[in-house]
Amino acid sequence: MEEQTELSRPRRILWDSEGRPITPEHPIITFIEGDGTGPEIFAATRPVIDAAVNKAYGGKRAIYWLELLAGEKATRELGEGQHLPEETLEKLDFYGIGLKGPLTTPVGKGFRSINVTIRQRLDLYACIRPVRYIPHLPSPLRHPERVNLVIFRENTEDVYAGIEWPAGHRSTVELINKLNELLKQEDGKSLSLETAIGIKPMSKFASQRLVEKAIRYALENGYPSVTLVHKGNIMKYTEGAFVEWGYEIAKERYSHRVIFEKELQMGRASFDGRLILKDRIADNMFQQMILRPEEYGVIATPNLNGDYLSDAAAALVGGLGMAPGANIGDNCALFEATHGSAPKYKGLDKVNPCSLILSGVEMLRFMGWKEAGELILRALESLFSKRIVTYDLARQMEGAEEVSCSRFGGLAVEEIEKMA
Ligand code: NAD
Repeated sequence: MEEQTELSRPRRILWDSEGRPITPEHPIITFIEGDGTGPEIFAATRPVIDAAVNKAYGGKRAIYWLELLAGEKATRELGEGQHLPEETLEKLDFYGIGLKGPLTTPVGKGFRSINVTIRQRLDLYACIRPVRYIPHLPSPLRHPERVNLVIFRENTEDVYAGIEWPAGHRSTVELINKLNELLKQEDGKSLSLETAIGIKPMSKFASQRLVEKAIRYALENGYPSVTLVHKGNIMKYTEGAFVEWGYEIAKERYSHRVIFEKELQMGRASFDGRLILKDRIADNMFQQMILRPEEYGVIATPNLNGDYLSDAAAALVGGLGMAPGANIGDNCALFEATHGSAPKYKGLDKVNPCSLILSGVEMLRFMGWKEAGELILRALESLFSKRIVTYDLARQMEGAEEVSCSRFGGLAVEEIEKMA
């Protein structure tokens, strides 16, 4: 009896030296409800995850949910300026795995993005966005079942680093004067003093650790290729270097398991069942992904490209309401939907909770609780086969039964509970 109590005590998740979580039977998982429609999708998601865990492991395993404050709820409860309390960052880091609703960021004024700050402060350097087709979903493609992409977006650098100066400020003008001196010596270009400036940092270290994580994921999960997506033709020293560094780390650490597409094309090497590493220019990649999705598996790309690509890719498999995501570092992971807080739908109980439910599936897989994740996927597929969907999918499907966000979550729980 004593032993059972000890075993069922909630514990934090620890990490091994390979960056993999060691999940106890009763892990403490942190959560942030989020802003806008965040609390609605979270309320629909949590019972689905709990039901799947309970069903899969017959009550032997359970998640202990620990709420952390951020965004509007934190400001409401703790006061102005408290949108990202230090305690939240500390606990996200300490407990290791969390599930988060979207948080609102004001455009052009106010504070910097809470989402970006969390990723940078906890060094969650890989933003991982799977784009997979679930049978019966609507799609603009004739063969959506050919879409099975996982986008690895670098999460800490690029123009997202937030190093920027507004037009007309004293420090901006000072910076422009210095830049103009350098530019004059180099090629005679110059910037107008009215220019706003943003910096695009891209380092070998950050690029290589992202590409390495993508390669490892592809090898461990049986993907045939990793594609480096970039604008290196235009931004040679940043995105061009991203590609070079990517090939370099692959050659250094994985030469026995990875083959470069260009070597294959030149007949310089034989395939031998190895993972193919290739690269594509970002604009081309947008059309490739639509016309020949079957030729792509894992994609590794700098921050901004990854942001654009993942929303576009989501449209191939039902839209943003079906797009899960994760931000992962070496000993902390935060799972969240790809989309934002969709404020215009706030309080309407309308949006699709699948984005967060599927983020929960990714979280369960990451924890090693694959069986529970599979149950959720089966439940969603069953609902889609009956054309029971939220508004976003209903408007793309003939004869759909449109249900609310909370009803969809409730029906998913029922599906799981009645599974054999
Ligand atoms: P958004 O992603 O919130 O919404 C854009 C549109 O996508 C919505 O109007 C809706 O039509 C659709 N959509 C989004 N989620 C959906 C869902 N679950 N079901 C069905 N349809 C859905 O983008 P936005 O309106 O540009 O951004 C709103 C706020 O969210 C901004 O403050 C932005 O900074 C923030 N944001 C946060 C995150 C994050 O928390 N990681 C990510 C992106 C944007």
